[in-house]
Amino acid sequence: MARKFFVGGNWKCNGTTEEVKKIVSTLNEGQVPPPDVVEVVVSPPFVFLPLVKNLLRPDFHVAAQNCWVKKGGAFTGEVSAEMLVNLGIPWVILGHSERRQILNETNEFVGEKVAYALSKGLKVIACVGETLEQRESGTTVEVVAAQTKAIAERVSNWADVVLAYEPVWAIGTGKVATPAQAQEVHFELRKWFHANISPEVAATIRIIYGGSVNGANSKELAVQPDVDGFLVGGASLKPEFIDIIKSAEVKKSA
Ligand code: PEP
Repeated sequence: MARKFFVGGNWKCNGTTEEVKKIVSTLNEGQVPPPDVVEVVVSPPFVFLPLVKNLLRPDFHVAAQNCWVKKGGAFTGEVSAEMLVNLGIPWVILGHSERRQILNETNEFVGEKVAYALSKGLKVIACVGETLEQRESGTTVEVVAAQTKAIAERVSNWADVVLAYEPVWAIGTGKVATPAQAQEVHFELRKWFHANISPEVAATIRIIYGGSVNGANSKELAVQPDVDGFLVGGASLKPEFIDIIKSAEVKKSA
């Protein structure tokens, strides 16, 4: 079954109003494959979500970079899933390694967040990935399986989940995983879904790669059989994001 190529742009904690408008106008002018070939979702900081949603071309969508683990209330500084739904924001990124590492979000907490966001009707880009130390000690598959299991224990419908494999050592470092390294982990994750969830979910879930993807390396990653797209950080702020989106064409003809 065909899995539609997915390209997400994680703008992280970057941008002024003027810079955001400039990025959006570059995206709006970009010549990219049609929506039946590639799904494009960009994720500005919370404060720019309404602006980006209003200015962005209709075939691209927006994601928040996080949301609170349950219903809103006395949680200073947090943004609830209900608020995102109220604003018409369809997607949210959860479990990004920067939040896991800097803000100590555990596998269980991320699993709860994913379950709550889905229950409110949001679609989720759920991130997993190993540190350099874990890779070097040979525990990569174990680590990403445990992160995925903590989500699986709380989620029964995977239709609105995109899983982003993002090795921590490749994020923002310029040290991209080789196509073989990415394919190996994506293959193992799909195998995990086959064994632990169902053959259907294994065949249909989109597993995207993130970590120093750019306009020059995206095509060779895109052709890997279990790579269904990308989550892009730094390069999503630059015009080369359009080239990354275009790698969906390479996938289509692979
Ligand atoms: C990310 O933060 O999700 C990411 C993949 O960043 P970068 O592309 O900059 O490595």
